[in-house]
Amino acid sequence: MEANALTANAAAAQLDVERVRGEFPALHQQVHGKPLVYLDSAASAQKPSAVIEAVDHYYRHDHANVHRGVHALSERATNAYEGGREAARRFLNAESVSEIVFVRGATEGINLVAQSYGRPRLGVGDEVLITEMEHHSNIVPWQLLCEQTGATLKWVPIDDRGELLPDEYQRLLSDKTRIVAMTHVSNALGTIVPVHDMVVQAHAAGAVVVIDGAQAVPHVDVDVRAIDADFYTFSGHKVYGPTGIGILYGKHALLEAMPPYQGGGEMIKYVSLERTVYNDLPYKFEAGTPNIAGAVGLGAALQYVKGYGLDAIAGHEHRVLEYARQRAESTPGMKLIGTAAHKASILSFEIDGIHPHDIGTVLDHEGVAVRTGHHCAMPVMQHFGVPATARASLAMYNTQAEIDALFAGIDKVKEWFN
Ligand code: PLP
Repeated sequence: MEANALTANAAAAQLDVERVRGEFPALHQQVHGKPLVYLDSAASAQKPSAVIEAVDHYYRHDHANVHRGVHALSERATNAYEGGREAARRFLNAESVSEIVFVRGATEGINLVAQSYGRPRLGVGDEVLITEMEHHSNIVPWQLLCEQTGATLKWVPIDDRGELLPDEYQRLLSDKTRIVAMTHVSNALGTIVPVHDMVVQAHAAGAVVVIDGAQAVPHVDVDVRAIDADFYTFSGHKVYGPTGIGILYGKHALLEAMPPYQGGGEMIKYVSLERTVYNDLPYKFEAGTPNIAGAVGLGAALQYVKGYGLDAIAGHEHRVLEYARQRAESTPGMKLIGTAAHKASILSFEIDGIHPHDIGTVLDHEGVAVRTGHHCAMPVMQHFGVPATARASLAMYNTQAEIDALFAGIDKVKEWFN
């Protein structure tokens, strides 16, 4: 089910956050002599012991190359790798593992769709529709595709709360729209996009839909079949898994009709010097030795998240975010960027007269890790007329006490610069 708003289940569910914190070793350290307050999980989340141990165990006991060997270690490595795929299938509620392609991350997932689905199909007169609040990784691949094919890129504008304008979306969709590519949750604003409704409209116009789930999967219970997404991609490292691994989900019939993205070993059934017969799905899209340990770690991360349940995680994060929002609103000189009705995990802000980088530097000295900059979403910054923001981003391990530490740090920032 799509979770645009907090579901009743999420609102009621409780998360044992102290237990969760105990499972993340990196949280228990001092930075500049202060306890670490890690509020940068939208950039990359910390890792629970379950993930660290799964990768450690794999390298200590099971490592070999996958799919090619007849020996025991190769078989164990293959099972571990394919176990990660099955965990991703369950996590997204995809129908089949043939629809789950391992990629390096959301960036590669989007590029794969642009080049393999889009490039052979699009031409002059066709349109790709994105939104104004995309991460650069869901803008630039489409700009490249349009340069290569002569297609035109259009975008759905946002309002000053950071919500998409539904009438504009309807107006921009037409029979020229071949691909709609949009984020599920904005990394700069936290806006949760009503993707299911937008998919219905896109399909009515005859377009396929690519959803960038990089910021959604740690916070929203995603069901690709309920959303009816044609493609859905995310990065492992934002959902407590390793870097360098991610998932591209694609509907079987679409993936089947697409040419390979890269050529090499693993993606073939037969090669002669004259021709190649490509492998079945999903291996057709996995050229070369894959990130086996990454897949193992990702599988462990997705099981870890499912173990606590997205309802409990979303409910907890929502309460902490709401507390942070209220504190921000009663802090003189602080302005929130991104105030959508349905938000997840992100508190982007400015403080009058103080550059975001200065905010980030003083907070770091207080042990509080936030991100400052354009968050790879320069068009969002342009919309709000700011060069950058400071961004605190929440994960399942953050607490209200850490929000108090953030605001104590903000008082220090103001003392320092005012
Ligand atoms: N999409 C969104 C919304 C993101 O926030 C990010 C990373 O911050 C990405 C895509 C790209 O993810 P990666 O760099 O892991 O490929």
